[in-house]
Amino acid sequence: MTDLPRPCRFVVSACLAGLHCRYDGRTNHKPEVAELVASGLAVPVCPEELGGLPTPRDPSERRDDTVVSNAGRDVTAEFAAGAEAALYIAEEYGCSAAILKARSPSCGCGRIYDGTFSRTLIEGNGLFAELLLKKGFEVFTEETWPGLSPEERASATHPGGLSASASAPDISPHTEPSCGR
Ligand code: SF4
Repeated sequence: MTDLPRPCRFVVSACLAGLHCRYDGRTNHKPEVAELVASGLAVPVCPEELGGLPTPRDPSERRDDTVVSNAGRDVTAEFAAGAEAALYIAEEYGCSAAILKARSPSCGCGRIYDGTFSRTLIEGNGLFAELLLKKGFEVFTEETWPGLSPEERASATHPGGLSASASAPDISPHTEPSCGR
């Protein structure tokens, strides 16, 4: 991570970049996000691991101003510390936009689970996404990110290594509003 160019346009959920940091030890690998990291355009972070939580861990959901695990443990402090630590990294690398895992209690943006562990979605943001929005970052999920703009593509360390999927030419323009804004 330390040899990434700065500023680095994106901070991304590490699980989208292929790291096995999900609560169940699995990944949410999205090749187009992993390519951003490989090309020097993105830095991966996992707020929950940065907050000191182990992998694997119990799944958690936001419940009003708290975060609780499905075992009934209040993990608000760990989630808040992880969001702050991930924000610090994003700011250190000069990031200005984020691509985060949809519906996560840390990374979700726009829609998250309601805290009842019944797969019920409500409007809201994960703690890390919420913090980034407050700081003025553009925040997308892997489902709303429109792909690289021509300027972002040109700034890649290894632009020839970016595949067509990273530019996503067949979806919405890059100027589409990001979630939660
Ligand atoms: Fe992925 Fe974010 Fe959850 Fe970490 S906290 S596993 S990066 S969704």
